[in-house]
Amino acid sequence: KREGTINLGAGPSSLPTSVLLEAAQGILDFSSTGMGLTELSHRSGTFKKVIESAEEDLRKLLDIPENYAVLFMQGGGTEQFSGTALNLLASHAIAHPDYVQQHNGQGPALDYAVSGSWSAKALKESKRLGGNAKAVFDSRKLEGSDGKFGIIPPTSTWQLSGVDGSGKVASKDELPAMLYYCDNETVDGVEYTPAFPIDQLPKEYAQNVPIVADCSSNILSRKIDIAAHSIVFFGAQKNVGPAGVTIVIVKKDLIARDPDEGVSNGGPRIPTTLAYKHHADANSLYNTPPMFAIYASGLVFADLLKSKGGVVGASQRADMKSRAVYDVISKSQGVFAATVKDPASRSRMNICFRILARDGKTPNNELEERFIKRCREKGIEQVKGHRSVGGIRTSLYNAVSPEQTLVLVDVMKAFAKEVQ
Ligand code: PMP
Repeated sequence: KREGTINLGAGPSSLPTSVLLEAAQGILDFSSTGMGLTELSHRSGTFKKVIESAEEDLRKLLDIPENYAVLFMQGGGTEQFSGTALNLLASHAIAHPDYVQQHNGQGPALDYAVSGSWSAKALKESKRLGGNAKAVFDSRKLEGSDGKFGIIPPTSTWQLSGVDGSGKVASKDELPAMLYYCDNETVDGVEYTPAFPIDQLPKEYAQNVPIVADCSSNILSRKIDIAAHSIVFFGAQKNVGPAGVTIVIVKKDLIARDPDEGVSNGGPRIPTTLAYKHHADANSLYNTPPMFAIYASGLVFADLLKSKGGVVGASQRADMKSRAVYDVISKSQGVFAATVKDPASRSRMNICFRILARDGKTPNNELEERFIKRCREKGIEQVKGHRSVGGIRTSLYNAVSPEQTLVLVDVMKAFAKEVQ
């Protein structure tokens, strides 16, 4: 059954079968200890080796510089909406002890690039926490957007804090404590391609503002310049492993040396389990970590590194797979329509499209239901679009093979013929 099923779910999603088989053995009897991995002490030497080798392989895969810590945390991507803001505000309060007092009690700005539902949620959470957070753009408010996500505006139009109309940093003091973006918007199928345009930001801004990336749904699918960021984080349940672990890669000198030190300067008080400092000092063993998720993620890293050509291999496959599907969409003569209008912003991971009525304009629910049925007949599961977008979403994460993608391509071609 498993081998005949093609799981194109958006997350949690498909994982390599070989990894799951090994993990299944590992939770019964890990390394002939007579005990399952999840039954061992997280402080045992055995588990220490597991977490260390997961980190080592991830460092190799992503080329993570020495001056970055790798933290295995919990709470999902969602918890990092607050985690990123609170930790950077704490560091800012320590580095600029008089800032809040000199700014009438207000903390530094926090900039958000709002290109989809997840970055919008991160901004909302940041505002809820009382921070001085704002959108540098919101794709839904752009001309021609119809109030939907799908366009990433030119960098020159972004309303960056501390930057004047001519694109110059007007006042270093007004620069934000972070610029936050979501590299791949899972719900809306919007991705920065070939990468988030850090090189197009005003130089002084890019050099002084900590840049934070949510890579939950595209990490390990292409190279990312970690050194150009201050924080890169991702929940596991797409390209990495089972849900439960959230990995935070953070520049060491930005980790607040004492999370409470900035409180008297107007900085935030961070919940203990959210403060990066504690996790960094304890090599992610401050409290009991999500052992199974870390273990299985480590197996995925080793598999990608040793058998699948690393991130370069994954990236080539991701390009090829997504191109094949977008190609069918564009050649379908009005049967399929990509929901992301700008081809340059279309995700390689989550391909979102509608199926149109004969007029070639109106999305047709009945045809979409029929398409989902046709997919099922070929073993393709979980292709219904997110409820906020509708239509179809096919997610082509790393564990989806080129061969499985071709099955989807064939179903789409046959369907286009069937309804034309
Ligand atoms: N960011 C992105 C890009 C996501 O896709 C998701 C979840 N799918 C989240 C954040 C939230 O993650 P979690 O459900 O693990 O909190």
